[in-house]
Amino acid sequence: MFSFDRILIDRSEGRELDYSIPGEFTDKVSIGTRVVVMVRQRRALGTVLELLETSGIPGIRPIHGLIGEEVSLSPIMMRLARWMADYYCAPFASVMRSFLPPMLRGEKIIMRKIRMARLFRIPTEGDFLSLSKRAIKQRELLVLLKQNAAPMKVSDLLRGCDASEATLKALVRAEWIVVTEERAGGIPHEEEEILPTAIPQLNPDQGHVMQQLTEAFNALEAGEEVPPPFLLHGVTGSGKTEIYLRSLAKVLEAGKSALVLVPEIALTPQTVERFRSRFDHAEEGGARVAVLHSHLSDAERREEWMRLQRGEARIAIGARSAIFAPLVRLGLIIVDEEHENTYKQEETPRYHARDVAVMRGRMEGCPVILGSATPSVESYHNTKLGKYRLLELPRRADGQIMPLIRVVDLRLQGKRSKSEGGLSAPLQMGITKRLELAQQTILFLNRRGFSTSLLCQQCGHVCRCPNCSLSLTLHRAEERLTCHLCGHKAKPPTVCPECRDPSIQFSGIGTQRVEESVQKIFPTARIARMDADTMTRKGSYREVLGKFRSRQIDILIGTQMIAKGLDFPNVTLVGIINADIGLHAPDFRAGERTFQLLTQVAGRAGRGQTEGEVIVQTFSPASPSVQYARHHDFAGFFEQEIAFREAFHHPPFTRMLLIQIRGVSAEKALFAAEAFSRALKEEGAPWIQVSDAATAPLERTHGQYRFHVTLKSKFGQLLGKLVRKVMTSFKLPEDVIMTLDIDPYALM
Ligand code: ADP
Ligand code: ZN
Repeated sequence: MFSFDRILIDRSEGRELDYSIPGEFTDKVSIGTRVVVMVRQRRALGTVLELLETSGIPGIRPIHGLIGEEVSLSPIMMRLARWMADYYCAPFASVMRSFLPPMLRGEKIIMRKIRMARLFRIPTEGDFLSLSKRAIKQRELLVLLKQNAAPMKVSDLLRGCDASEATLKALVRAEWIVVTEERAGGIPHEEEEILPTAIPQLNPDQGHVMQQLTEAFNALEAGEEVPPPFLLHGVTGSGKTEIYLRSLAKVLEAGKSALVLVPEIALTPQTVERFRSRFDHAEEGGARVAVLHSHLSDAERREEWMRLQRGEARIAIGARSAIFAPLVRLGLIIVDEEHENTYKQEETPRYHARDVAVMRGRMEGCPVILGSATPSVESYHNTKLGKYRLLELPRRADGQIMPLIRVVDLRLQGKRSKSEGGLSAPLQMGITKRLELAQQTILFLNRRGFSTSLLCQQCGHVCRCPNCSLSLTLHRAEERLTCHLCGHKAKPPTVCPECRDPSIQFSGIGTQRVEESVQKIFPTARIARMDADTMTRKGSYREVLGKFRSRQIDILIGTQMIAKGLDFPNVTLVGIINADIGLHAPDFRAGERTFQLLTQVAGRAGRGQTEGEVIVQTFSPASPSVQYARHHDFAGFFEQEIAFREAFHHPPFTRMLLIQIRGVSAEKALFAAEAFSRALKEEGAPWIQVSDAATAPLERTHGQYRFHVTLKSKFGQLLGKLVRKVMTSFKLPEDVIMTLDIDPYALM
């Protein structure tokens, strides 16, 4: 019997206070319950963290009230929250904020309801005749609603016939019309008709994968231990989604629920539709899929959240933060495209949703499937260590062969291609051919890259750090090449160290430039551009893709946005304008990212009956990322990449912690970074590597100067401990901010 509880107070930087539980609340308060308490003389909101039998605090005050009794976090989710706060060195309060979407945190919820009218039965001509004499208005209402062939807003319906509420009421009483109250905005995407699709027969590869999964599911049902996470490595178009769908069906059959994470859901409507078309049509009335994405309003998000918590929806599909969705009886977690960077949150708490998914799966006792055509080095390495179990789909599901990938050496193209907006002669020829055949082309421009590394336009040489092998960043102010990871500095060369050419310089070209040149070279072609600049309007993404699908566009030019998930049968050519840019980012994952990107983009070609072709333009044709992608050789790429990681002590052989120190004053921030690095070194142990303070590759953003201190160790759990210890006795100057990032992805 618990009479006391410990409350985490909102907006208090993690303050925890004890309160007593009044008798009337005893069976209503559990861990995660949202409460109102008095702090000093003010009302405050908070979350129950712990239930206590005793409290040593004299004169303890009672809880004031409960907010929305229905909202609470399960004990497992509370455990997960504690683990996250500890692992990611994040304040517990910030973790709690991720677990409870804003609308659930006790703010008043006002939801606009709209009334919808729909026909209860379809009136015949005879019915109309019998009505028409006495009730002309009633007849008009029915006619309008029938003509409309879909439910109508009551207000529109009445206005449309100039009828009154009384007329409508009469029709409701006579059971012609039903009126329902619906939430404004509706269930996301509800307006679209989702048609059930035929369920394909599994091919032998899929059958084999499914058999292994089924065995594991059955063993779990029979009381055996939770299987290790599965890594489903399937080439693009191999039918991974079908595996997800079948696994979900099994889980639903067993009366459980499931969570599907996708990289950025708003950008992959095709994916969502595939899930909804399979499950929103299931026998018992559908509406079983809750969709959680960043374009939902707070009210919509809350509604989806509640549908899940009440068990009305049993599949949640969403982006990163959906990992916290309150599903009941969770039976499966799927993380699609597990290698995607969008799973890493770049603000506190800086969690990685895939890793949280693996942890949640372990705590909930449910299987986890991670899927990708290009698994992350970390995950694939885990299969080698036996921590994950590898499942493979090595062939395309439709029997198509993988597209032919041709590499164009930009060094041989010389200055000419640059003047032509980056289009090499072979790529121009390829486009000409597609235009003649009325087939479509995608031109991909790599922009996640970074143009502060020095690249020789003649031989492709890039200046690298001798310690870390990362490309060095030029900081113009101090005229130095710097390795931001270890702090190594060098004088920038005036000629290429490799070929002595003086044309060593930055590279970079924008989508707009490419669009202009394509338009110039192919004046009659229909061209569209898709990047962050042109896609600002809500819905424009769908609009352009719709046009592309219906072949009103010949050439689609875009950035990362068009790299994945899209499936257009008429696209037979994909051109990658600048494969290198990302390759030379000062990041140990640069090679991995380039390989992933090339493979994913190439996967867009030849999805239909005609064979696809991919043209990769690069200054580094011999780089492993380009060569292994060209031969569709993931295993080969992994072997050389893992050797590189091991040789330079990069993750996954070490765990990394990135400390970013920033401030408006460069001097103050640098001073703090240097002092902190020194303090860490003094306190540290030989098995923890502490770097010198280094200027961040992006040295200044939002008016603040940024510096990095990087920690690496084979004993990952020691990193957070060390930093926390040093922090307690370290005084950060005012206006200087420090953030910690465990397993960092953004090293810029
Ligand atoms: P992935 O997710 O691995 O990229 P998809 O699941 O998108 O692959 O499948 C690629 C295409 O193959 C889709 O159009 C899908 O409908 C089709 N497909 C999947 N499995 C089968 C199958 N067993 N038989 C026929 N077509 C299939
Ligand atoms: Zn270095």
